[in-house]
Amino acid sequence: MTDTATAAATLVGGGDQPDLYLGGRWVAPHSTTRIDVFSPATGEQVGSVPNGDATDVDTAVAKGRRAFESGVWRAKTPAQRAAVLRRAAELINERSADITGLISAEMGASPTDVATLQQLPGTGVLSGYADAAEAYPWEEKRTGLFGETLVVREPIGVVGAIIAWNVPLFLICNKLGPALAAGCSIVLKPAPETPLDANLLAEIFTEAGVPAGVLSVVTGGLEAGQALVEHPDVDKITFTGSTAAGRIIAARCGDLLKRCSLEMGGKSAAIVLDDVDLPSNIHMLVFSGLLNNGQACVAQTRVLVPRSRHDEIVAAMVETAKTFTPGVPGDPDAKLGPIITDKQRSKVEDYIATGKAEGATAVLDGGRPDGLDSGHFVAPTIFTGVTNDMTIAREEIFGPVISVIAYDTVDEAIAIANDSDYGLAGSVWTSDIARGVEIAKQVRTGTYGINWYAIDPASPFGGYKNSGIGRENGREGLESYLEHKSILMPMGYSSGN
Ligand code: NAD
Repeated sequence: MTDTATAAATLVGGGDQPDLYLGGRWVAPHSTTRIDVFSPATGEQVGSVPNGDATDVDTAVAKGRRAFESGVWRAKTPAQRAAVLRRAAELINERSADITGLISAEMGASPTDVATLQQLPGTGVLSGYADAAEAYPWEEKRTGLFGETLVVREPIGVVGAIIAWNVPLFLICNKLGPALAAGCSIVLKPAPETPLDANLLAEIFTEAGVPAGVLSVVTGGLEAGQALVEHPDVDKITFTGSTAAGRIIAARCGDLLKRCSLEMGGKSAAIVLDDVDLPSNIHMLVFSGLLNNGQACVAQTRVLVPRSRHDEIVAAMVETAKTFTPGVPGDPDAKLGPIITDKQRSKVEDYIATGKAEGATAVLDGGRPDGLDSGHFVAPTIFTGVTNDMTIAREEIFGPVISVIAYDTVDEAIAIANDSDYGLAGSVWTSDIARGVEIAKQVRTGTYGINWYAIDPASPFGGYKNSGIGRENGREGLESYLEHKSILMPMGYSSGN
């Protein structure tokens, strides 16, 4: 394998990427196979990347391990590392046209969606981790049974990050941010559906000041992902993706006694209370279910409505959902993009058919929109008459499908919200904020919104139950990339302060 002098400029604006970006340099891949990337909006090929193999992963991990042992990054002060993250956030904003171009091409998302659902929260978490690193108690004296102990926090080592395709910019920031803030090396494996933006982002982090060797990207699929999990020099796996894959990865990490954190699927419930101010909340309520075409782990896809206001709320939801018109990224009227692949669209359509077969009523039955035949589009669908035992209420569809479930009492609504294998997000819609907080405390999910839903960069994000293990964002997110070490001082010793 040889390092090449491929100019970074060849990448910008173009999806044809011959090499891998390993440790801050372009490197010819060992793998001879490639992943061709097609636009879900038009069906055109928009790029091609190496399909990295186990040898490529080994090269990336070796670079990361050497950099870690050298101390070139972990020995910097937290403030120095924080400054690099803040600079990376600035550069992402400066280069947003290039990044957005690649993401729009590979996932069909509109520039507005990339800006609001990926760039804003992505740069937000980088700032959040920079703040967390500066405020964190890296060393702490404690007085215990034997006298004084010095508790120090150290970076966990070399991190393998495996991510999904649905919000690549945000997910990359949420893996690189905490790993780098902690002082770790990191090898990122993006999803095979959306690999194009990852190398540009890695270049940006290098330009921001991440030293050679610390950060690598191995584009690839299952082989590269498995090789990262199995690699003996990878100290931690951080995974964002489906619960099915997460379960397999966690089992292997268990066997290997490798640290592992998991961000996985969801089936979140929006509880609409009888005092909701509908006109001021309806757009956000529907948006929370349809955001990113429903391809969001936190989408509020079960909407629980009081039977006393059921028809009024459903009518408003349907009228609002009709305004979410699908279209290609450049179309100024488009409010929804395509589904990521034809296979995933078929899965969404199968769920819609199952909903009907199990007795739910499609009061809005979007189907495939006219005139968009070359992409994988599905317009919004809203089901009523859904009971919480139906497949469409239990399984994550990952498409623009909302299930409305009627309830009689608030206790019943809370019980329905909690009757799920998942516990990632949720929301309550009410004019009484104190009542909303009381309900939020009774729903077993990692995050919750009152009259909206969002992920806060400074506060822990993650799942109860099958939605995940561990937390991202803020101090808790940083901590999951650290080991804690206790250094016992001699008996009777006192540092005096
Ligand atoms: P996926 O699980 O199929 O793939 C995710 C990543 O894991 C990809 O990079 C894939 O190549 C890799 N992978 C798959 N199996 C693997 C294995 N056995 N070993 C190693 N790597 C493996 O998920 P997807 O379809 O890309 O993404 C959609 C899912 O991601 C949804 O379930 C969604 O809820 C979830 N998601 C969760 C969050 C969160 O923060 N909780 C955020 C975004 C997406």
